[in-house]
Amino acid sequence: MKNKLIRDAVVVSIACSMILTLSFHINSSVNNNESYASGTQTSVVVNESEIIEMISKVNKTDITRYLEDFVAFGPKRTGSAACDECATYIFNTFKQMGFHVEYHNWSFPLIKGKNVIATHYGLNAAPDPILIICSHYDTFCSSPGANDDGSGIAALLTIADIMREYQFNHTIRFIAFSGHEQGTYGSFAYAKQAAALQENILAVLSVDMIGNTTGFCKKIQIHKAERTEWISHFTLDVAEKYNDYLPVVVEPIAAIAGADEKSFLDCGYDAVLFHQPHSWLPEFHDHEPGDNLTTVNVDFLVNVTKLILALTVELGNKPIDLQIRIIEPSEGYFYSYHNFKLKLPGENFYDKKIRGMTYIQGGFTVKFNISITEDDTIDVVYCIIDGDNRFNRCTMESPYEINITKYFLHKKSIRTGLHTFRFLVTTYSGKTAYDEMDIFLLP
Ligand SMILES: [Zn+2]
Repeated sequence: MKNKLIRDAVVVSIACSMILTLSFHINSSVNNNESYASGTQTSVVVNESEIIEMISKVNKTDITRYLEDFVAFGPKRTGSAACDECATYIFNTFKQMGFHVEYHNWSFPLIKGKNVIATHYGLNAAPDPILIICSHYDTFCSSPGANDDGSGIAALLTIADIMREYQFNHTIRFIAFSGHEQGTYGSFAYAKQAAALQENILAVLSVDMIGNTTGFCKKIQIHKAERTEWISHFTLDVAEKYNDYLPVVVEPIAAIAGADEKSFLDCGYDAVLFHQPHSWLPEFHDHEPGDNLTTVNVDFLVNVTKLILALTVELGNKPIDLQIRIIEPSEGYFYSYHNFKLKLPGENFYDKKIRGMTYIQGGFTVKFNISITEDDTIDVVYCIIDGDNRFNRCTMESPYEINITKYFLHKKSIRTGLHTFRFLVTTYSGKTAYDEMDIFLLP
């Protein structure tokens, strides 16, 4: 798979070089002046007993109703009338809950659709850190999709309906995507836009197929990437903290490609997927007409929804003592020798594994934002390539920039090809945070 990845990237790199010969001159400046989350936190407004109360509000009656409504639209292939009707239903349901609701229309050369977004604004100073919980409402062409992903939509609506009565530090977005079954088009369009707007998305919880289990299994899996280990650990902590009220077992596993969390990972955001084990078993009828109400285990769905609700609430109030975000280079751009910046076409490239890739020729300048609590001081910032090849360490003050020259890359034997650049910040008090991005270095 890795060789294929590099082959694909080389093809694009050649295309990039051809584009460069057309002498595009692109302004490489990025709006870096916007104020950033100061690190000042409002007090936690939901206490533990209130969270237990919220968990107890998740019930079989509401979830069954949402599931029945969802399945009643029949198969919902993106672009079909049924899919649009389902979008309207989700929009209106969020609206009745009192949220600010909007459609996010997206289009690619061969497919278009819309996402439905409900926002629960946080108490922090603008621009808020944002927490996203999402599922997809489109289905395979012949399937009503009770489990894939009616279960995720039912959980999304249930959690939104309970959380709307409470306030949280961070802004929470509830998003229903379309275009998923053709290659996660809706979520990729959204994540790409968020990256272009430099939105500060703390975490993305993708919820897809959580309504079935084999036998008496209570297991729900969380698919995580290396950069989202922290969400996995946080989830395990939440599951333990509310153990008496959450009759599920959380099993972290390595991320799979294919669900909406991958769109966010490809665009530089921290995202995980909640997904049942053994979803491919024939008895679950995924992508078939048999994925209907009779195959959904609603008791299991209720319990998983409780877990994801507790997690969303805890994340929604999680203090951010220290955060670093790469602002430049931008995801999905081509850079050449510090001076040229070119936005790449941004096709989905879903099955090519090169979505959101950044290509760089020569040296480049890295800019980032760092937010920190007022009583702490930044010690050092340094970057690591490919996880273990540390090559720079420096004390910094705002504006935070590192110049990485071609000579420097050459000296460190960092050659043409795909690398992960990781930037860490530590403080005198011992806190550490990092951000990273995949960069393909061109000859
Ligand atoms: Zn799905």
